[in-house]
Amino acid sequence: MEFDLIELIRARAAVRREDVLLGIGDDAALLRPPAGHALAVAVDTLLEGVHFPVGTAPADIGWKALAVNLSDLAAMGATPAWALLSLTLPGADRRFVEGFLDGFTALAEPHRLALVGGDTTRGPLAVSVTVHGFVPEAQALRRDGAKAGDAIFVTGTLGDAAAGLACLDRERADADRLLTASVDSRKALIGRLNRPTPRVAAGQLLRGVASACIDVSDGLLADLGHVCRASGVGAVLDADALPLSSALLTLFADDARDFALRGGDDYELCFTVPSERAADLIADLSRQGCGVARIGRIVAEDGLAVRDAAGRSVAVSASGWDHFRS
Ligand code: ADP
Ligand code: MG
Repeated sequence: MEFDLIELIRARAAVRREDVLLGIGDDAALLRPPAGHALAVAVDTLLEGVHFPVGTAPADIGWKALAVNLSDLAAMGATPAWALLSLTLPGADRRFVEGFLDGFTALAEPHRLALVGGDTTRGPLAVSVTVHGFVPEAQALRRDGAKAGDAIFVTGTLGDAAAGLACLDRERADADRLLTASVDSRKALIGRLNRPTPRVAAGQLLRGVASACIDVSDGLLADLGHVCRASGVGAVLDADALPLSSALLTLFADDARDFALRGGDDYELCFTVPSERAADLIADLSRQGCGVARIGRIVAEDGLAVRDAAGRSVAVSASGWDHFRS
């Protein structure tokens, strides 16, 4: 079964690059990284029923499998170049692979990402993508550079993907409020869940400017917590500055802030910047069409605090996506 599928994948792997000396078809790909750059490498696996709901369209799975990996490269400030694709399929399902490739290539092509190899096996549906990108050695963004006094920013809006998942869950459980509520808002939130947009261009703009960066995959509190631990600092967040989409506010007005703080799967970038460089960076990101919100500041003392406009602390329990879901 595999050979037909591999041939199908090879025929559809449209992006060609000069730095691919040998792509799909041999025992290994041969690749030529550019001089003076670090090779940024990341892998993420998506399991049906864990990382995407059962019944997700194959094209959405293909898009998301690549998007979550490109988001990791974005968080490092790297420029995407190559990918490996490991597909585990219950059967030789050509239609699934066709749909999967529709979504995968729709995202690979604008990023000039070449699919250079992979693996195809039989088993419960799982997709693993490995991406490779380049970043000038001294300019890679990391988690461990945040300093007390730095401003904390996040791109786009937060909480939408988790709210999209809640929409899907409630559609199954009870057909009332959300079905009669704004169809456009539901579509927008579910779209954020199924087709996240990795912030690749924003990540490259942050090179040499951001003191630390992470992509928001597990929820803002969890991921900013990783930055704080790696940097040996703490953070104070302004609850009223969290960027909330109109779709989230329309459907989840009461819980919007919780979704934004704890919901995962948004794949926005959270980063820190010395405050004197913040204004220029906001202007640069805005010119690129990337929304960005200043949501707090780094402090010397450990821990994450969330305050409202009056300075009162907003209760936050243990962070993280798993916790939020349970
Ligand atoms: P081997 O047994 O030597 O590992 P395979 O038969 O697994 O080779 O794969 C043959 C070729 O097809 C290799 O170049 C491999 O990288 C590529 N390939 C296999 N599966 C995929 C996939 N899902 N996506 C992209 N390339 C693949
Ligand atoms: Mg071999």
